[in-house]
Amino acid sequence: MEESVRLQYLEAMGIDVWVPRHPPVVAEQAVATPIGCASPSEADRVGAPDNEAGPTPQQPAIGESSVNRQHAEPAPPTAASDSSHKFESDAFAPLPHHPKPHTDDLAWKDLQHQVSICRACFLCETRTQTVFGVGNKHADWLLIGEAPGRDEDLQGEPFVGRAGQLLNEMIRAIGLRREQVYIANMLKCRPPNNRDPQADEVAACHGFLKRQIELIRPKLILAVGRIAAQNLLHTQQPLSRLRGMRHELEGIPLTVVHHPAYLLRSLPEKAKAWEDLQFALSVYQSLEQ
Ligand code: URA
Repeated sequence: MEESVRLQYLEAMGIDVWVPRHPPVVAEQAVATPIGCASPSEADRVGAPDNEAGPTPQQPAIGESSVNRQHAEPAPPTAASDSSHKFESDAFAPLPHHPKPHTDDLAWKDLQHQVSICRACFLCETRTQTVFGVGNKHADWLLIGEAPGRDEDLQGEPFVGRAGQLLNEMIRAIGLRREQVYIANMLKCRPPNNRDPQADEVAACHGFLKRQIELIRPKLILAVGRIAAQNLLHTQQPLSRLRGMRHELEGIPLTVVHHPAYLLRSLPEKAKAWEDLQFALSVYQSLEQ
């Protein structure tokens, strides 16, 4: 986890983080650093068994009033604070104040970072960039497509090509705008030449999607297209058999809809997509009651 993200987590959890005002002399730091103080690596040990014995004479206890808390004003210089080789109570400068981030924000940031550096399958070799997902992180509706295509790989956002424009229309058909739903794909990287995702790629990426679902906690999931539907539902049944039914993923109702790229190729099927969307809407409305 990135250091800045880790510090934000500690802050969000209400754990004070201490930093030395003066760089400590390393040899003395080992014996004199107070609990939870000083360098980032030491903050890792907050709550670790090493710290359970309680404060030593040089270690003010957490919460002790004589030490500067993270958001307190820095103490004026004193004779003690001149002593750069000692961790005196006033030898700690407050971290710059930032508004308290919501824990979910930190979880999103961390997840996005994990996706961006993922090398769990071969697709990392050919991607331009990862395509994380976009939209309202508190959305009632989560739309899950298959995988980024060429445009998405270039722009880093799902469903931005022609299929994306049609998907936007489909979203309007349920009375919503793109910004009101969350849009993600099963895969965060583009398969070369837009080939179908392979089972190992879906498996490697599944944890990311699962975490997105956990964080969004949508009321309804819409699987966009046959490939997404079959993989998410672990079935080989054709879309014609999966349509018009309420399924479930991670305990959340799921319905399916034809993929907009398919609809662009076979316009007569658009009527079926309309039906699918109306069905999805009826499931959603039944949840509201
Ligand atoms: N098709 C998908 O399934 N997802 C995209 O992001 C683009 C096209």
